[in-house]
Amino acid sequence: MKLWSRYHVPRTVEQAIELLTEYAGHAQIIAGGTDLLIDVQAGNHPPIEALIDITRINEIKQIQIIEDGADRYAEIGGAVTHSAIVARPEIRSYATSLVESCGVVGGPQVRNVATIGGNVVHALPAADGTLSLVALDASAEVATPDGRKTYPITELFAGPGKSIVESNRHLLTKFRFRLSNFGEGSAFQRMMRPQGVALPILGCAVWIRLDEARERFAAVNISIGPVTPTPQRAKQIEDSLIGELANSDSINRAAQLAKQTLKPRTSKYRATAEYRVEMVELLLRGSLETALVRARTGEAIPEGVDQL
Ligand SMILES: Cc1cc2nc3c(=O)[nH]c(=O)nc-3n(C[C@H](O)[C@H](O)[C@H](O)COP(=O)(O)OP(=O)(O)OC[C@H]3O[C@@H](n4cnc5c(N)ncnc54)[C@H](O)[C@@H]3O)c2cc1C
Repeated sequence: MKLWSRYHVPRTVEQAIELLTEYAGHAQIIAGGTDLLIDVQAGNHPPIEALIDITRINEIKQIQIIEDGADRYAEIGGAVTHSAIVARPEIRSYATSLVESCGVVGGPQVRNVATIGGNVVHALPAADGTLSLVALDASAEVATPDGRKTYPITELFAGPGKSIVESNRHLLTKFRFRLSNFGEGSAFQRMMRPQGVALPILGCAVWIRLDEARERFAAVNISIGPVTPTPQRAKQIEDSLIGELANSDSINRAAQLAKQTLKPRTSKYRATAEYRVEMVELLLRGSLETALVRARTGEAIPEGVDQL
């Protein structure tokens, strides 16, 4: 049985949207295909008349660093691969958690084709790159037949595996977030079954800013998954740290609070809820401690990924 009948390779975002509109919901975007083709082959996808391959659209394959006064922003196209993110020096140094999460997705073959846009649109609460984009407070631009719209990343998710980006009508064009400045740092840690190749048992991404004296937490973003049905920030834990002295005592208290309040579920393929709760404490403590060192020293070398 044919799984699709036509295959189009548009060169611009506008052409892709025109094609999706022509097929009136019966065409589907394909990027790396590492999620989509598995779903299609397993029969878990509605019939597809045409695939719209977005990997030749130059505009959405770029990583741009944009200066804006004292701040710098990264703009990462929706069709940028995990490998390209890991190789980019500014992302390694100033959005280190994203490199640490993209650098452990699958193996090199997967990372060379799998895109960050596909990771987010697939909308799984354990997706590695997604967790870091949430902690980095990214926004996402989505092209639709009515023009482009920008959303805070957490507004893209409608449920496990469900996105408001309808990939038979819309195209996620880029992500934007501020790169870390003096006194700021980020980190990502995850736990995986030794024989695992797909989703982790648990992942944790954090971003922090210290006050001017570099003594107290001034801002904290935490994203841990899978805990909630959609990727979200752990606001109660974040609030518990703000204004506190940045040291092992406050980090331990936050890790304890996470252990007491977060409610991950049991997955028959990955881990029990009880095990995940123990790991929440460990991963949150580890990633906060790493982010703190990075914020204090201004030096960040990604851990657990290939060095350049
Ligand atoms: C062996 C293996 C190991 C893996 N390991 C991990 C892992 O460790 N961690 C992890 O998080 N994931 C993992 N994955 C999952 C997967 O690689 C990622 O989710 C990947 O980022 C998906 O991107 P893609 O380009 O392949 O998306 P595709 O499969 O091409 O697309 C996925 C979905 O998103 C839509 N889509 C894609 N791009 C866009 C866009 N720009 N705009 C609108 N819709 C779009 C598609 O229509 C489709 O519905 C693994 C997969 C495999 C096969």
